[in-house]
This record gives sequence, C-alpha cells and structure tokens, in this order.
Amino acid sequence: MAAKEGKTIALKVLVDKQRNRVLFVESGKDFVDIILSFLTMPLGTIVRLTRKQGQSCGIGCMDNLYQSVENFKSEYFQKKILKDMLLRPKNSSEVLCRKLELNIDDTEPTKYYVCYNFLYAKYSKFGQHKCNSFSYSNNMHCGCGSLMSTEIFLSNDEVVDAAAEDGGLFVKGIMFMVTDDLQILPITTETSFTHLKSLGITGRDVLDEKSINVDVEEIVDILRNSFLLEMPLTEVLLQKHVHETLQVSKFQSNNTTQAKSRDTASFESPHIMIKLAISKAQNKIMYAEAGEGFVDFMFSLLTFPLGSVVKLLDQSPSLRCISNLYKTAEGTALAKHVRTASKAVLLSPMVPQPPTYITPVVSGKLIKNPSDSGKAEPLVVAVNSIPFGEFVTKPAMFMITDDLVVTPLSFISCISLLEKENIPMDNIEVRSVNVGQEEVRCI
Ligand SMILES: [Zn+2]
Repeated sequence: MAAKEGKTIALKVLVDKQRNRVLFVESGKDFVDIILSFLTMPLGTIVRLTRKQGQSCGIGCMDNLYQSVENFKSEYFQKKILKDMLLRPKNSSEVLCRKLELNIDDTEPTKYYVCYNFLYAKYSKFGQHKCNSFSYSNNMHCGCGSLMSTEIFLSNDEVVDAAAEDGGLFVKGIMFMVTDDLQILPITTETSFTHLKSLGITGRDVLDEKSINVDVEEIVDILRNSFLLEMPLTEVLLQKHVHETLQVSKFQSNNTTQAKSRDTASFESPHIMIKLAISKAQNKIMYAEAGEGFVDFMFSLLTFPLGSVVKLLDQSPSLRCISNLYKTAEGTALAKHVRTASKAVLLSPMVPQPPTYITPVVSGKLIKNPSDSGKAEPLVVAVNSIPFGEFVTKPAMFMITDDLVVTPLSFISCISLLEKENIPMDNIEVRSVNVGQEEVRCI
C-alpha cells in the first residue's frame, strides 16, 4: 500500500551554501532502507511511478516499452491478467517494502485465494489431493468445483520477522550518511571528514545544516534523478536545476564490449531469430520483425528488479547513482550494517515466482495440517498458470522500432514508417540475425 497522503520523513542535510549543493544527508535507517529499496523495484514499477508524475523514467527506452504494453489490446495477450502483470509487476520484496517508513510503490499487495475445502476439509476423508491450487483472484474455480474465494496469507516472511526485532528492514544501525550520489556509509568522524575533504570543503564557514521533510513524490523524484544526474539529492532537496549543465545519461551501449562478445559465442540462452529491416543508404536499422519469443523477452524486462538489472549490466553501461547505490550495498563499508538476509534481496533480487509451498494463515491463525508438523503445504499451483515469461499470444509477429516501440506487425505500418523517414522501398534490405544473451544485455 502506498504511504498515507502527506506522510513525510525528516532528514538532516549538510549543505555547501556557497555552491548550494548537498554534502550529505544524515539519517537513520528509515531513509537508508527507502533508498536501498529502489534496487528491489521492477523496471515497470519505476516507469509507472515516474509517469504518474508526468516524467520520463530516465532508463533508456523503457517508457516506450511500457507504453507499447499499455497500447496492446488485451486480446494480444494469452490472458488479460498478463497485461496487468507487466504494467503493475510484483516486487518479490513487497512484504518487506510495505513496512518502509515511506513506500513509494503503490502496487496492490498480492492476494492468494483458495477454496473452502482447501482449508477445512482437505484432510478429511473426502477431497484429498483435489484441492492443491490457489488463485490470484477470487473468481476462479478449484479442481473440486468450489469457488476459490477464501483469502489466505502466507506466513513465510522470515525476513520480515528477523527485521521486526529492531525495526530496520535492509540495514541495521542508528545513523548513516547518504552522499549526494547515493553512497551510503555509517557515520564516523573519519568518513565525514574524508568525504568533505574530497568535495573540497575545508572550512566550517560554507557549511549549513537544513532540516528537510521529504514525501513520497520527492522520493520518486530522487529515484528518477538517480539515473540522470550525479547529484540527485541536491536536485530534489535543494531544487536546484542542474539538468542544463550535466550530461544526461541514457542506457548507452558499450560498443567495444558489444563487438567483442558477439564473436565469442558464449551464450547460455537459446538464440532467438529476428529480422532487421535495414536502410542500405543510411546503414541504419529501421525496425525489427520478431515473433512472440523476442517480444515476451522484451516485455519481461518490465518485471526485472532494478538490482538485477545493475548486476546483469555489470556496471556497463553505468546507471549512474543507482550503480553507486548497488556498489554500496555490495561493498565492505556498509557490510556490518546490511542484513545477511537482505543482501541477496538487494543485489540479485528475483522476479517473483508463484509460491510452490504455502503456509496459509486465516484471520491470524496458522491453518495446520494435522498429518504433519504444521509446516508448509506442498505443491500449491496457481490455477490456469502460464509458463513463466510467456505473455503475448502466439504465434504472432511484431514490429519493434529502434527506440523499443512494439506493435503487432502490420505491413502498412512498416510502409508508413519508411515514408516518414523518407526511405525508398528498394533501399531496404532484410537481414536475419540471431539474438543471444550478449545482445540482450546490450538492449
Ligand atoms: Zn477445492
């Protein structure tokens, strides 16, 4: 659930008043947890949250990809729910993130429903093994024929339980410093002085301390600016418009790596064949034509958590301050403070998968299986589940432009694209290429 309207979090900010920039924010673990939670967010969520503020998300062409999904008719998807899954992807740390002091992600909590028999009659002599399903919605029918309308809660939130002891979620500790470029360090005299020195601050006279309350919107703004600027905190907290002077970073592909790896044939994933329509005169890709496999992959990018994207990119291209944040969570300076259980959640967050075991809780009570020790229920499968990562209807062909706008293939659209770019038809060459893991990384 999103934070309550108007809720804010108080920050102490050390400012260089001469240059009007944030030197660092001194904060408790609340703010640090919020900043670190960025890494758990699926790209689709980041696009959605920034769009709500009328802004582009700042990550390459992800806005176009998101818009493509939105424009796709529901009938192009194997199931209507899949479109929602891409537009409102689940965060695998959603239970944890809902406990943040300010949670910017307003995605609805995942709900699980079972039939009445699953809970109360399953272990009687009737109905055994029939009710082994759950549903994400309350209007499906179970294998036993009953409506699956009883909401259950999973009680496997061990991470949350561990965190609950001292209130922190991803980190433990009392006071931290968050630098303007999102490095997080435990506060010590030495780290503070070293940091100030590195910014050329030697005298106290330029220092100013400000108390600033930030709200959900400003946190989203910090997130968005983390991809674009070197100083997102200055931008948001001091509202200084530095866009003009700073180079805007996009997902620039690293051409040398790309060229090198293309020859090494070290792909683990199967290749997907796509066709490129190339303008011979301009030596430019006009669009790609691809089947459902490639489009499923492109769309599934929206469900990738940010931390996994940073990991996949392996710092190249850099995602600016988000890369700093990732390095912070990974590095030694904060090692004592990052919870062991949280480290994996931040550094290689998973795309949520349906639970295969379930420990149902109804009205706060654990429903126990009398035949064993009351632990998790095995083999609970989603009703009508679709193999993970398959979204669009098949077979089908799609057209993907260079800036990742995806539409069902229509030759008329192709022709109008060529017309728009003023390219004669006989200038177009169609080339087949294999797309493997390395190309996927570059995208
Ligand atoms: Zn049932």
